[in-house]
Amino acid sequence: MNEREKLLETVRESEVEFIHLQFTDILGVMKNISITVDQLDKALNNEIMFDGSSIDGFVRIEESDMYLRPDLSTFVVLPWSSYPKEARLICDVFMADGTPFEGCPRNTLKKVLKEAYDMGYILNVGPECEFFLFHTNERGQPTIETHDDAGYFDLAPADLGGSARKEMTLVLKQMGFEIEASHHECAPGQHEIDFKYADALTTADNIMTFKMAVRIIAQRHGLHATFMPKPKFGLSGSGMHVNMSLQTLDGKNAFYDETDEMQLSKTAYHFLGGVMEHAKGFTAITNPTVNSYKRLTPGYEAPTIIAWSSGNRSPLIRVPSKREKSTRIELRSPDPSANPYIGLAAVLKSGLDGIKNNIEPPKPVNRNVYKMDESEMAERGIERLPANLYEAVQELLKDSVVQEALGRHALKKFIDAALYEWGEYSKYVSQWELDRYLRKF
Ligand code: GLN
Ligand code: MG
Ligand code: MG
Ligand code: MG
Repeated sequence: MNEREKLLETVRESEVEFIHLQFTDILGVMKNISITVDQLDKALNNEIMFDGSSIDGFVRIEESDMYLRPDLSTFVVLPWSSYPKEARLICDVFMADGTPFEGCPRNTLKKVLKEAYDMGYILNVGPECEFFLFHTNERGQPTIETHDDAGYFDLAPADLGGSARKEMTLVLKQMGFEIEASHHECAPGQHEIDFKYADALTTADNIMTFKMAVRIIAQRHGLHATFMPKPKFGLSGSGMHVNMSLQTLDGKNAFYDETDEMQLSKTAYHFLGGVMEHAKGFTAITNPTVNSYKRLTPGYEAPTIIAWSSGNRSPLIRVPSKREKSTRIELRSPDPSANPYIGLAAVLKSGLDGIKNNIEPPKPVNRNVYKMDESEMAERGIERLPANLYEAVQELLKDSVVQEALGRHALKKFIDAALYEWGEYSKYVSQWELDRYLRKF
């Protein structure tokens, strides 16, 4: 039986009535076109059309006929649907003339993955998604209240959050995820669920699926799950660390070299060098909201400066101690508001640039860099990550390598959206300003 026949059989056996054809817009929001089962053949023949002009950042009305091409390997019956059963397929977006749409983030990532493949590498990524679970009020709207006071790694408290997280883990397992760990994070109401690494495209799909599942299960427990990077002042924010390694086409970890003092290969050092070189340029993409930059502040295990270390958790990049097959680098700046497809595309493109141009990383900094002052940083030539979304966009505008990863269409839409966001934010008068200035002046 081929993949298509197997899929059709599962649809029959599970009595699936609805299929959601999913894709992601440039800002990382999942879109859905739902069909009933009698349209499935048409969908599998890539004949489902939609109006691209109605999707943020897609196209103008004149060129709006677009087609969805389902990726059969992403088929899954949604465990939370009762009767009628629902399933989903993740799709690529194509133009009417059969060419891949440049503004489809999944196509963007595929393009950079192809470039890596042509150089002899497959990118494996293991993400660590953090999120908050908040209570909802009488009208079902999210609050920022929690009632657990647990911290990092405490045993699951006997509260709503703990039981919601347990169900999330089980549901994700039913959807084919291998959950490696799940734990309470530093802040009250903050959680992390880690799933097994996979090739970058599968991981990006998994991140989208993960967020959807976590939100839905939270709702069923009367909670609101948020992947907003810094929902509460004075507490840890939510990051999405990405653990990356390159695999050679014959299945070896290209980052491992037992003869090196840190057991890292030249490829690993150069990849690291490239990622650091372009860190300022890709930050707008890995940290795309104005709120993202409130997480990237000292004291909460989120990075602020562009340095790497073998153990300390304050720099941008950490090289975890596991070696051989598990040799990897952990990029700690991305947050879960990022579009995982273009985020990984931008980071991978940066690493590949490091390999192509033999970019040597600076010396590791194995201490708490939050304590490093400006003069020491200047002396060592260490730079900071952009301080806000506006600065980040300016850095992106200077970085042609990261720009190339996005492609012209997505780049323009992304920058327009980020600058609009910044403009709206900049003119808003916040409570902080009122508290600070109302009496003073
Ligand atoms: N929440 C931290 C961040 O913002 C990470 C904490 C951790 O995983 N050690 O990145
Ligand atoms: Mg973790
Ligand atoms: Mg964590
Ligand atoms: Mg981590």
